[in-house]
Amino acid sequence: YGDPSQKIDYVFKVVLIGDSAVGKSQILARYARDEFSLDSKATIGVEFQTRTLVIDHKSVKAQIWDTAGQERYRAVTSAYYRGAVGAMLVYDITRRQTFDHIPRWLEELRAHADKNIVIILIGNKSDLEDQRAIPTEDAKEFAEKEGLFFLETSAFNASNVESAFSTVLNEIFNIVN
Ligand code: GDP
Ligand code: MG
Repeated sequence: YGDPSQKIDYVFKVVLIGDSAVGKSQILARYARDEFSLDSKATIGVEFQTRTLVIDHKSVKAQIWDTAGQERYRAVTSAYYRGAVGAMLVYDITRRQTFDHIPRWLEELRAHADKNIVIILIGNKSDLEDQRAIPTEDAKEFAEKEGLFFLETSAFNASNVESAFSTVLNEIFNIVN
């Protein structure tokens, strides 16, 4: 994706947050490399991946950060949030607890990140419809109340993964332009 020799007009840092095993790393793998793994290992070490895209004839490098398993210890540091202009707040539609923890993640995000950060709530694993624990309407309502974008995605079948990132990146682009 993207010609490495091209000039970059913008770099946008976007952070992935949410409970362990909701699919953050697989969403990123799908977006950055169009890959998916069913037995993905817990992420080791803070890492980011990039993908360069064109918005309005400008080249934008999305630098997307993935937590390093710190979500288990609630130890995501302020360095992780520093400079972030976008955030993807992910829960698993099949596990109620991961949705119930969203307000905590939002609170942490609002405490550490820039107040103008663009946030999207993501209900991942939409391919597992038969195991759904969180009705779409409940999440939509929560997102509206909190002023967040909202989409359900599947890293497994790639549904809405592109849309989720383009929603955030286009909104950031509109804010800075
Ligand atoms: P993280 O801890 O939030 O980074 O979660 P991972 O990306 O490591 O994913 C945790 C588990 O859920 C792995 O076994 C993935 O293969 C699986 N997984 C992630 N996304 C999806 C999805 O969209 N659908 C299904 N069915 N499984 C997923
Ligand atoms: Mg991970």
